[in-house]
Amino acid sequence: MNTKVTEQKKTIPVYDARSGMNRDVEVINRTDEGWQEMLTPEQFRITRKKGTEPPFTGKYHDYKGDGIYECVCCGTDLFDSKTKFDSKTGWPSFWAPIAPQNVTYRVDTSLFMARTEVLCIRCGAHLGHVFYDGPPPTHRRYCMNSASLLFVPRAGFD
Ligand SMILES: [Zn+2]
Repeated sequence: MNTKVTEQKKTIPVYDARSGMNRDVEVINRTDEGWQEMLTPEQFRITRKKGTEPPFTGKYHDYKGDGIYECVCCGTDLFDSKTKFDSKTGWPSFWAPIAPQNVTYRVDTSLFMARTEVLCIRCGAHLGHVFYDGPPPTHRRYCMNSASLLFVPRAGFD
């Protein structure tokens, strides 16, 4: 009995930081119940229910390790620490995703504002929002929730 994962054969190419190449992966489509079994309540609230962690409370807003930030839900590589910068907002901030094809966007009109939500391309996890007041070269600010991310040291690669 496998009712937690719905039948889904769709594959998409995502960038894989370990190999430095794209690889085809299956889109993940899991029920809330399935996600709740593998996430903490805070991770579930943020990634699957589009929550936001309070500023300066997440484990990565002030973190300076050298490595890759993956999706906490599905392990897709999302951000490289080389694009992380101190936005002083209390949320981990990056000026670009690790590869354009690894994230997707959606217009978010909650809170009476038109914001651009950023989601994991593979599993649809809510990651945060992107704003257009970031540093060069992109002038974008990917304002992420620590709870949506899992840091992997670059030394752990290869
Ligand atoms: Zn994901």
